[in-house]
Amino acid sequence: MTQIPIAEIPEEGLSLSYSEDPAELDLAVSGVRFPQPIAVDLVLVKAAQVISATGRIEASVMCECVRCLSPFLVRLDIPVATQFVPARPLLPPGEYRMPPEEAEDYHYQGDVVVLDDLVRQEVILAVPFSPQCRADCRGLCPQCGQDLNVGTCACAPPPDPRWAALREYLKGK
Ligand SMILES: [Zn+2]
Ligand SMILES: [Zn+2]
Repeated sequence: MTQIPIAEIPEEGLSLSYSEDPAELDLAVSGVRFPQPIAVDLVLVKAAQVISATGRIEASVMCECVRCLSPFLVRLDIPVATQFVPARPLLPPGEYRMPPEEAEDYHYQGDVVVLDDLVRQEVILAVPFSPQCRADCRGLCPQCGQDLNVGTCACAPPPDPRWAALREYLKGK
């Protein structure tokens, strides 16, 4: 776990450059794997109780194309510009609220900032939501499963949905 004692952040800021084993981060994103270490480059600057973190995170993620299901590697180059603010005392139930301008902040407890929280969150947010191996991926034939990027198949094109209502009507006759 990568955590930095706040007392060790000097006046001029603290530059950090390290790589993190994805397995250590508990990156629970279904359908993807992180085959390489995650590179973290950050500068922490302390101003009163707020610790700003700027820099970048680089990661590689093995995704599965949503159309043709083939695995492919996506490089993530994530700019980071955020801050850690002290964790607030817990509010009684029903009084929870998160002011929108603070929604992006990370929190720290006590006198350390846990960088793993930041790295985990930023990487998870950067994973493509519906990854496609290429913009014009043709996907698989819905009938026989042929990868249409590789070749065509003999299946008839799917019936035009616009005629479905008419077909239903004729069937009833
Ligand atoms: Zn594809
Ligand atoms: Zn087919």
